[in-house]
Amino acid sequence: MDMKASKKLGLKERYTLMTRDLAWTPTYQAVKDVFPLTEYEGIKIHDWDKFEDPFRMTMDSYWKYQAEKERKLYAIIDAFTQNNGHLGVTDARYINALKLFLTGITPVEYMAHRGFAHIGRQYPGAGPRVACLMQSLDEIRHAQTQIHSLSNYNKYYNGFQNWRHQHDRVWYLSVPKSFFDDAVSGGPFEYIIAIGFAFEYVLTNLLFVPFISGAAYNGDMGAMAFGFSAQSDESRHMTLGLEVIKFILEQDPANLPIVQAWIDKWFWRGYRVLTLVAMMMDYMLPKRVMSWKEAWEIYAEQNGGALFADLARYGIKVPKGWEQACKEKDHLSHLAWNTFYSYGMAAPFHTWAPSEKDMEWLSAKYPDTFDKYYRSLWTHYAREQAEGRRYYSTTLPMLCQICQIPMIFTEPDDPTKIAYRESDYKNIKYHFCSDGCKSIFDLEPGKYVQSWLPVHQIHQGNCFPSDVDPGKPGFNPLAEVLRWYRISDGIDNRDYADSPDKQNFETWRTQATGN
Ligand code: FE
Ligand code: ZN
Repeated sequence: MDMKASKKLGLKERYTLMTRDLAWTPTYQAVKDVFPLTEYEGIKIHDWDKFEDPFRMTMDSYWKYQAEKERKLYAIIDAFTQNNGHLGVTDARYINALKLFLTGITPVEYMAHRGFAHIGRQYPGAGPRVACLMQSLDEIRHAQTQIHSLSNYNKYYNGFQNWRHQHDRVWYLSVPKSFFDDAVSGGPFEYIIAIGFAFEYVLTNLLFVPFISGAAYNGDMGAMAFGFSAQSDESRHMTLGLEVIKFILEQDPANLPIVQAWIDKWFWRGYRVLTLVAMMMDYMLPKRVMSWKEAWEIYAEQNGGALFADLARYGIKVPKGWEQACKEKDHLSHLAWNTFYSYGMAAPFHTWAPSEKDMEWLSAKYPDTFDKYYRSLWTHYAREQAEGRRYYSTTLPMLCQICQIPMIFTEPDDPTKIAYRESDYKNIKYHFCSDGCKSIFDLEPGKYVQSWLPVHQIHQGNCFPSDVDPGKPGFNPLAEVLRWYRISDGIDNRDYADSPDKQNFETWRTQATGN
């Protein structure tokens, strides 16, 4: 037998045989009936084979790599759990950043899984179809590994137990939820620009680097391990996002204005979701990595700036809201944490006013704004609290119809004035936090009048458990909403200073380090 005949295939040949060659052109059915969603968004693709998968990964090698990563991850989680790793974190305030992650981010990883499975099915080209299939599997793995890594904390701390239930109900979670609902209800091309490009490529570093470095700085091996395990997937996702946008733009000049409008929209939507990350970085980490402002300067202004300079040759411009986002870097985290502090009874994690030392750090990082606009607010809250009047707002805020964040943002050029925008549609007024959110509404009002706004829903009586009667004397709407949220009042929520989490952590740590 001639051994030379069975020579090993090169990477490219192997990839072709095992991906492109597995696809075929249907003959019993028309292509447009098999892939019915590829035309209505107006994107024109002439030759799907022009898409080059940057990784040329085949399914068998995909499983091999992923299995290896899983083995390492679960070994680390095991070691962390068995060593009482939860007592090694800086202090239990840190754990609230994880509750924010589990309630806000993990469920949208799962949505990303569903979204990529859906669009993978809808693309007529075999290259993008295989890439989307792999990303879809990555995303469900991310959701699972996050749940597993964080489950150890659930044994010891409050606020982790109802994350799935809460994701569809609690006010601040409708911010990431509506972001993904919006994306998966777009067409397959809008979805890939929204998630693959605007989110994965432009913004993802501003989500994962802060959380994972935060974990590293605060002694949390559990979250660090899932972060590292996801990192190599992440670089594949970023590359897919970039390749897809270039492919779409190269296919037909008519695609440019459609793609630009999506970049404008999804940059702004993604950026608004990152408000939660900004406050986590500046206020929730006992040991901080860098400020939101510094992260924005590195990952958005420098990296993003270079990216858009590169895309300029396709005619792509910097997204519409870019300039405003850069102006807001000095304000975002302070406005957000103030909101969570004031509504600290309505979230399943703890809040607190920054200490004197924390404020020193904040004024050093925000020399132009912290002392001038925000310090007095925290000093006031701290004084009130010391006198037994911890401030909790008992009114409900107006929400932006698009990003669903309370109207907390200030005018880009006047930080003393709340920004309000509005549009009329079919004789009803809709409210927005910014020009960015207003213009998203104005392009597709029929879509966004359907938004499930948590505050509107409370006012309409849709957020109470089914056994209550709002007409009964003594009816307490806040208590009933919390019950519907499955937040145990006084345990999962309110100030860290008064929490069982704090008390337990201190007791356990004393036991672990003394006699
Ligand atoms: Fe992911
Ligand atoms: Zn908004």
